[in-house]
Amino acid sequence: MEDQKVTEISMKGAPACGRCHMLVARYAPQVLASSGVYHRECFEAWYFGRYGKRPSLLAGTNGDRHRYRLREQQAA
Ligand SMILES: [Zn+2]
Repeated sequence: MEDQKVTEISMKGAPACGRCHMLVARYAPQVLASSGVYHRECFEAWYFGRYGKRPSLLAGTNGDRHRYRLREQQAA
């Protein structure tokens, strides 16, 4: 049951999760994807549901360790 409603309005600059549409707290574990920001839990659940495996997430650097990015698929 995907909710395709686009959440354009965000409070005080806080982004809304692309999956559950709840605001992503500034210091909450989150994933920055090309399609938007997701709670880490939401992103992992979505990714697992789509690809059947857990995503490879890279933590950010100093001060941004709660912000993860998806590791691009590359030949190992
Ligand atoms: Zn979420």
